[in-house]
Amino acid sequence: MPVLFVGHGNPMNAIEDNEFSREWAAVGKKLPPPKLILAISAHWESEGAQVTALPKPRTIHDFYGFPPELFAVQYPAPGAPELARRVRALLGAEVVTLDQAWGLDHGTWSVLVRMFPKAEVPVVQLSLNRRLAPAEHYALGGKLAALRAEGVLVLCSGNIVHNLRLLEWGDRGFDWAEAFDRKLAALIEARDHAALMDYAKLGPETLRAIPTNEHYLPLLYALALRGPAEPLKFFAEKVALGSISMRSFQVG
Ligand code: ZN
Repeated sequence: MPVLFVGHGNPMNAIEDNEFSREWAAVGKKLPPPKLILAISAHWESEGAQVTALPKPRTIHDFYGFPPELFAVQYPAPGAPELARRVRALLGAEVVTLDQAWGLDHGTWSVLVRMFPKAEVPVVQLSLNRRLAPAEHYALGGKLAALRAEGVLVLCSGNIVHNLRLLEWGDRGFDWAEAFDRKLAALIEARDHAALMDYAKLGPETLRAIPTNEHYLPLLYALALRGPAEPLKFFAEKVALGSISMRSFQVG
């Protein structure tokens, strides 16, 4: 099963017909049908990693100031407690606890509602453990590799350049954001995972591009799941709203 990193950006992509939502839909149609989905979203950070073991995860509308149509969206995919237990077995029971309270946050459902609109494939979310260093997130990602052969689609959802404070409504990206996005793309293509884990040393623009790392960390899980000879294909290669890179990719 391929692995996806998706730049989710504006939650409105869930309901707008735009270049990003159209690309997500196209990717969903081309993928081999997954048996299960494991989502790693920027919008779930916790003390210690958790994995949702709910039979019926709720749709979480974790944003403010958006129109009622967006709050009305439901993504009623079933959960998969058996996948949650499998994830815990792969990562270690001392590393991950089973969660009964979360659900699907918009990092997950705003993409899936376009990619798999029927919401038939069961979805589990794995949280980002706030206490881990980037290299530790990468190491956890690598331990999930066996899931791919079991028909599990790993969906990593964040944004590799993400600065809400500098966000500007409009269609273009700031020059610095586009330059940083290209720099990261080159490192991704070159498989320089060491440099990508050590992103804080990527130059003076890093603080503007990655002011906090919750949207960046899902990228490391996707990179860790790329096999040595596996192709990687970018899609939605664009910086939107000034400071949000929508750059996404499929591994395999
Ligand atoms: Zn987000």
